Amino acid sequence: MDHLWTPWRSTYIKSDKESGCVFCRAAGSSDDEAMLVVHRAQFNFVLLNRYPYTNGHLMIAPYQHVPRLNALEDEATAEMMRLARRAEGVLEAVYKPHGLNVGLNLGEAAGAGIEQHLHLHVLPRWYGDANFMTTIGETRIVPELLEDTYQKLKAGFA
Ligand SMILES: [Zn+2]
Repeated sequence: MDHLWTPWRSTYIKSDKESGCVFCRAAGSSDDEAMLVVHRAQFNFVLLNRYPYTNGHLMIAPYQHVPRLNALEDEATAEMMRLARRAEGVLEAVYKPHGLNVGLNLGEAAGAGIEQHLHLHVLPRWYGDANFMTTIGETRIVPELLEDTYQKLKAGFA
């Protein structure tokens, strides 16, 4: 049931620990497509969740490796919210969802998969997707290929 309350729970994975922070690696990479980065702004960047809850599951993260909102500079915080607003528009245009979840999990107890690097989830939602989820438990059916999502959303932000 906790899916219903934290649909943005990051499955973003702990198997990655030896190679460091995935957000820092994406931030510093020159291969945006491989890292699923669809947009870069001044203080933050926007990337796809590699383990999406729904099609079009985006995350906005600061370049700075900070765990909490209160560690983030004002300008970066303001830009993060502006990017969330932009992501809302892009997702509505591309996916025509019934609604969206926009959320932060601060700390592992709150559902953060990667608690050391702040990230804001923005994802489209449709009537019935949660009902479907509860029926099939942990299994997530995501019909769209990530590469297709990437191309659509990159174009949406361009
Ligand atoms: Zn980091």
